[in-house]
Amino acid sequence: MTRPGTIIVGASHGGVQAAQSLRQADYTDPITLISDERGTPYHRPPLSKGYISAPQSGPSLLRPETFFAASDITLLRGTPATDLDRTARSLRVGDQTLHYDHLILATGASARRLPDAEFRNLHTLRNASDSAVLSAELPAARSLVVIGGGFIGLEVAATAAKLGLSVTVVEVQPRILARALPEAVSAHIARQHQQAGTRLLTGVSLGAITGRNGRADTVTLSDGTALAADLILVGIGSQPNTALAIDAGLALSAGGILVDDHLRTSDPAIFAIGDCATFPSPFAPTPVRLESVQNAVDQAKCVAACITGTPLPYSAVPWFWTEQFDMRIQMAGLPCDGGQLLLRGTPDSGSFSVLHLIGDQLVGAYSVNATADHIAARKLIPSGIRIDPALACDTTRPLKHCLTDSAVSA
Ligand code: FAD
Repeated sequence: MTRPGTIIVGASHGGVQAAQSLRQADYTDPITLISDERGTPYHRPPLSKGYISAPQSGPSLLRPETFFAASDITLLRGTPATDLDRTARSLRVGDQTLHYDHLILATGASARRLPDAEFRNLHTLRNASDSAVLSAELPAARSLVVIGGGFIGLEVAATAAKLGLSVTVVEVQPRILARALPEAVSAHIARQHQQAGTRLLTGVSLGAITGRNGRADTVTLSDGTALAADLILVGIGSQPNTALAIDAGLALSAGGILVDDHLRTSDPAIFAIGDCATFPSPFAPTPVRLESVQNAVDQAKCVAACITGTPLPYSAVPWFWTEQFDMRIQMAGLPCDGGQLLLRGTPDSGSFSVLHLIGDQLVGAYSVNATADHIAARKLIPSGIRIDPALACDTTRPLKHCLTDSAVSA
């Protein structure tokens, strides 16, 4: 008799990778991938980058349309999974009841919204249709106000400035990207935005958004500043999609679905991966929830290995990237307090890295147009190799030489 197999809820970076990795590991039972979005699964990062200025060809697909049938993966689109019943090991999709041996929750996150703010030109950005709507409004707009100086808001701000809009970014923290990046990197990014004519208003919060006939026209800040706005983007973070998990009584932590080091939830038949999962990381003192393609993809591979009988604890080095103007900014490791920050290269050259050492260990690297540093850092961080600060900052030698030189000099 055929076993029920594996159901994956959410068909994005995590879910699609999990299905593919199961098949690559010769998993022969049925795989059902459930998406509440209608289209073919697509890459999310371009939605706030190239796609908003050139949406004509549609979002770039995660896998070719033919991949799913060719891999014997049943992709159900356009209807959410509901009614998770852990005792019966079943859930519902529309009027169907589906059973599973293993369930993988890859439900991701949704954009956080402002309460009580409903205007046609007030947007958030999480999926392809959000991006298409924003993109359609950009050409006719003269001004854009971005609430929140995080990655998505700044990426859209950069595109809008290049299109000639008058752009203002409002950030409540004293500097943009304060939680994610060291001062030197965020100051460099701020300068590029300012040179493109963007106003960065930091240390100030939103007061009110007002308008007429369903369209906002003014953003008023806590200090009384009034900003004219043809278009408003709210980029104030996201919240994990945990409704299924909550209804089924799974444990949560820090807003996400709590999993162990093998990414199992409090029910051993159910895993959670990607943006919706809070997991113990060797790179953080307490369980974390990360929002990055790397994390979703690597966790998917980890779960597929666990289901197919080669379980290993999840221990991938976290990394992330963003693109703004001609900057490719790449981060490895997780931000944390303490230790020392070293500058490798100079911001004025347009290519540099900030290296974070605690004692003689590299724990983080933040690179601007310095991909070789980023790649080396991803190897150095988990290596345990002792880092010599002078060697690490010597730009006449590739950072990857620390993998051998520091070991010798230690
Ligand atoms: P998601 O991509 O959020 O996908 C979850 C899917 O599950 C969604 O399609 C959702 O609709 C669906 N779903 C939820 N509930 C149900 C249900 N009950 N039934 C069926 N389907 C359901 N990361 C980077 O590393 N670099 C970047 O430059 C970058 N840029 C980004 C730009 C934007 C605009 C956004 C929004 C994100 C960006 N990210 C970036 C983050 C990255 O895209 C996410 O970390 C990644 O998409 C997480 O993948 P996931 O599979 O966990 O979840």
